[in-house]
Amino acid sequence: MTFQELGLAPSLLEAIDVSGYTEPTPIQAGAIPHILSGRDVIGSAQTGTGKTAAFALPALHILDGHRKGAAPRCLVLGPTRELAAQVEGQFKKYGQSSAPKCCLIHGGVGYGKQRDELAAGADVVIATPGRLLDHVQQKTMSLDSIELLILDEVDRMLDMGFIDDVKRIIRSCRNKKRQTLLFSATVSEDIKRLIKGSLRDPVEVAISIKISPAETVKHEVYPVGAMQKFDLLIALIDQMEVDSMIIFCRMKVGADRITRWLQERGLSCGAMHSNLPQKARTKALEQFKDGKIKILVATDIASRGLDIANVTHVINYDVPEHPEDYVHRIGRTGRAQREGDAATIVAPDEQSKLDAIERFIEQQIPQRKLESFNYFHEPIIRAAEDAKPKRRRRNSASSKFGRRR
Ligand code: AMP
Repeated sequence: MTFQELGLAPSLLEAIDVSGYTEPTPIQAGAIPHILSGRDVIGSAQTGTGKTAAFALPALHILDGHRKGAAPRCLVLGPTRELAAQVEGQFKKYGQSSAPKCCLIHGGVGYGKQRDELAAGADVVIATPGRLLDHVQQKTMSLDSIELLILDEVDRMLDMGFIDDVKRIIRSCRNKKRQTLLFSATVSEDIKRLIKGSLRDPVEVAISIKISPAETVKHEVYPVGAMQKFDLLIALIDQMEVDSMIIFCRMKVGADRITRWLQERGLSCGAMHSNLPQKARTKALEQFKDGKIKILVATDIASRGLDIANVTHVINYDVPEHPEDYVHRIGRTGRAQREGDAATIVAPDEQSKLDAIERFIEQQIPQRKLESFNYFHEPIIRAAEDAKPKRRRRNSASSKFGRRR
């Protein structure tokens, strides 16, 4: 299947060419024809599979440019501000010639600019649920005109407690001819209940590719007692040649604490999590991207989808709750075929989470002891000869699509 065969407008084919994509990814090849034919679609696909373009390209085709003075025709709803901003970036990139007006709506910033942009007429609104509902309530935006509703990363929106907001938003999109697209890594019973009656005879496009760690990432586990996690973190940073590192923590308070402790040791670092004001989040991300700070301490808000090039190291200070987040976290390094290192610090009470990750990725992660480190208790390291693949690996996502360089 080629992009030409999908029937997209010439301006979009040009943008695809400029982006260097040679062929549609499976979710694109599966979903785009149905979307273009006007069907509702449920796409199960992980971040990193080309999912955004799978809805942005046909949406831009359908919108066919800017309609002056018209109310928003397309709404994309996503879980976090950063992901919403990234989706907006893709709409702008692919829509450069047709130039529909995009408006990004999320919390943590003032209302004024968003209000002005909505009043001036936007074709596509890309939003997180809470702030969008504020605008609806304040009557600065109506959802009556939405012809294309795109619910992105629905599993995550539900994980983050947005279920009631998402329900209200779907109910408020009253256009009877609305086309609805739903994308989620998994389609749980909760999601099925949520969308019952909201989608018209949807086509299901399930991409069976399982995400797995990129082959360019060397990932290892460092067992240690809970009391020594921070000391081990420092020792690991000391022995790594860090150009740019992301340290992932489960909790926002943990991320703040570690940032403070690292700063007290003179390390150049910043924090990123959802309790920080948007300005601080954007600043930390920008400084990290520009190399002004070498270490970003983040919660899983930075693990999925965020395109940050050149991350040389990832350290998981806590083992992630959801196994797929492990793949997303370590996938922040080793991007674009560069080599990357990822280390996971594991306290004894996190062993079951690590087991779940190893089952999910169907491989055992090599375990290491840091020889230069003064352990209170000798860590129990699984012998290297035991570190065999748990089962035969299924198709790997790391080779899921070709990219022209
Ligand atoms: P996403 O799953 O939307 O987060 O996309 C992951 C990455 O894949 C993004 O950096 C896209 O630019 C890239 N991408 C999207 N479609 C293609 C394609 N057909 N070929 C190669 N790369 C792609």
